[in-house]
Amino acid sequence: MAPKYHPTPLSGGGRKALTKELGKARAMASILASQSVEMRAKGEALIQQADRLLCESWNERMWSDGEPIDPSPTIDQAVNGGFPRLEIQCARCKTPSDVDLAAMKHPPTTFVHDLASRLRCRKCAKAGRRPSATLLQLAWQPRHPRTEA
Ligand SMILES: [Zn+2]
Repeated sequence: MAPKYHPTPLSGGGRKALTKELGKARAMASILASQSVEMRAKGEALIQQADRLLCESWNERMWSDGEPIDPSPTIDQAVNGGFPRLEIQCARCKTPSDVDLAAMKHPPTTFVHDLASRLRCRKCAKAGRRPSATLLQLAWQPRHPRTEA
């Protein structure tokens, strides 16, 4: 894009004033842009805290009552909140497992509780069974061998 053309004022004072106004506007543009960057970073940090709290809240509920699993954080909220792993247990054989949420093929807007019926136990699959998973908690470190998503 060509730079914007400002018609040159006839008087010397007018030209001076225009130069001054242009300088002010350009300085303002960069000040506002950097304030925007700063504010966005603060906002993202707050969202991250909110996501972490949501995960911790869900974990407390899972630990105390094990239900209701719905509502739960979404995959991207869990990952963003610092809980990229989901600990599960096979509802049938009780084999514990650990799912890497960041590596899942499901859309990041998928709710964690929606994964319960989609995660399958390998052991039971070999026996021809497809029990759903019991969700235990969100975690930041792997504790058990991985499960196929
Ligand atoms: Zn099983």
